[in-house]
Amino acid sequence: MAETYDIIIIGGGPAGLTAALYCGRARMKTLLLEKATAGGQAATTDLIENYPGFPDGIGGYELTEKMKQQALRFGAEIQEIKEVSGLEVKDNLRLVKVDDIDIKAKTVIIATGAESKTLDIPGVAEFRGKGVSQCATCDGAFYRDKVVAVIGGGNSAVEEALFLTKFASKVYIVHRRDQLRADKILQERLQANKKIEIVWNSHLKKILGNGKVEEIVVENKNTHDRTGHKVDGVFFYIGSVPNTGFCEGLVELDEREFIITDESMQTNIPGVFASGDCRANLLKQVAVAVGEGAQAAVGAEKYIEENA
Ligand code: NAP
Repeated sequence: MAETYDIIIIGGGPAGLTAALYCGRARMKTLLLEKATAGGQAATTDLIENYPGFPDGIGGYELTEKMKQQALRFGAEIQEIKEVSGLEVKDNLRLVKVDDIDIKAKTVIIATGAESKTLDIPGVAEFRGKGVSQCATCDGAFYRDKVVAVIGGGNSAVEEALFLTKFASKVYIVHRRDQLRADKILQERLQANKKIEIVWNSHLKKILGNGKVEEIVVENKNTHDRTGHKVDGVFFYIGSVPNTGFCEGLVELDEREFIITDESMQTNIPGVFASGDCRANLLKQVAVAVGEGAQAAVGAEKYIEENA
């Protein structure tokens, strides 16, 4: 008979890895399933400067790899390239569907994070991987002495635009308003960086090229004038959508499809918890995800003590 885990953690970003560490130390039989490789979006961040304990910052990959090693050290089992397609509750067990097989657990933590968005405009699908990217850390080095555009005005857009200036000769930031959403410290760095030009109040309308990105066309939202800018790459940082499709219909979601929980991170389904960027919380940060992962793990341990 297939074994029953005390807990299955779905998602291997900072929230999931922290939950795995805590569950391992609580001597729970713990399985973490990750659809790609552990680390999540944080692993694709060049430098994380606001996670405490690293005064000079730490690379996103390095930080999350350390989290993974720490979880493994305390006995968590981590399976990568395992995408969960469904979640069910039956006979006081939670059934996690992977490759058409149900894996049984007494409790589940959903820590599936969020995925970055793009725009549904001409050129995005055509030039994906040929100049259109959502990961400056992965693709930035291809743009040495080239011109790139970053779309968005939040922390990700500004951080990654600054990162791209290490390679590119010029970086446009195309933002739809006349004010950035990014933290003030990032805005200060941006103003000091001569390679960056902000295209204010503008919407990206199309991406043009011949086999690869060559130009973007933006429209000023006040004047409706359209302007072309020659670029070699376009990086989208316009926010993200939570990876919660697989649990829709079971777990309660808010209007933006983030998971609603109580203070102990428990969802409307007893024994099913959520933490990190997929949860309806105020702040999407590694520090927050880590705290929520720990809280969900303790919540799950308590649930087993009282119910299972
Ligand atoms: P975000 O904070 O949601 O910002 C998205 C940006 O894209 C906003 O400036 C938004 O414009 C713009 N935008 C959204 N939809 C758009 C559209 N359809 N067309 C054009 N522009 C659009 O997303 P994020 O920067 O990816 O960050 C996600 C979360 O992670 C945030 O909570 C952020 O603080 C956090 N984060 C933190 C750090 C850090 O602390 N160092 C680093 C990265 C991310 P408006 O401003 O007009 O809404």
